[in-house]
Amino acid sequence: MKIIILGAPGAGKGTVAKLLCDFDGSIQISTGDILRAAVRAETELGKKAKGYMDRGDLVPDSLIMDIMEARLQEPDCDKGFILDGFPRTINQAEGLKELIKKLNINLDFVVNLEVPRDVILDRLTTRRTCSNPECQEIYNIKSKPPTADGKCEKCGSPVIQRDDETEEAITYRLETYNEKTAPLIGFYESEGSLKNFASVDSKETVEAIKKEL
Ligand code: AMP
Repeated sequence: MKIIILGAPGAGKGTVAKLLCDFDGSIQISTGDILRAAVRAETELGKKAKGYMDRGDLVPDSLIMDIMEARLQEPDCDKGFILDGFPRTINQAEGLKELIKKLNINLDFVVNLEVPRDVILDRLTTRRTCSNPECQEIYNIKSKPPTADGKCEKCGSPVIQRDDETEEAITYRLETYNEKTAPLIGFYESEGSLKNFASVDSKETVEAIKKEL
């Protein structure tokens, strides 16, 4: 499959993307994961991106488009891909439109995950992530806690709260989403490629998406 997943922070994009990859072997391309890896490795990209990310701001479009232009030409993309967290602005969506034309890629459709705001806030403040970059399993202190001593069940690394998941950063990320990313819903609707899915239970959402493929 070749799809884009849109949704507010905490809408479950990453979880849904992982389940869809398990289903047909497509790969998940998360610009957030790529950027966090660059920050950890202290690359030039990471140094440029860190300040924006810690504040909950978007990283400039030009950096993101450079990352995606290279990433979409990697051979593993032939298996199919799920874009998670990209595009995030109308500018990026316009850039992606040009890019897929140039690379001769056909997208199946754009998934929009719809989740009530109170569910989103609750999910984000209770979310924890495995600190092992190779694992990054997602936990939730209410519904899917890590081990009693705060370790990842899969790899045993400490499970942490991300820097951009403090209450202040979350509020800002949601404002940024409303201002800059929510307009993409109208953009893809007018292109005729948008499909809306309620996303309270990730497994049910995935089943609904599979039916549309
Ligand atoms: P995410 O894990 O998708 O929530 O991304 C974490 C952070 O990385 C965001 O808050 C942004 O600072 C940055 N980021 C990820 N994807 C993008 C993008 N497509 N455009 C701009 N910034 C991004």
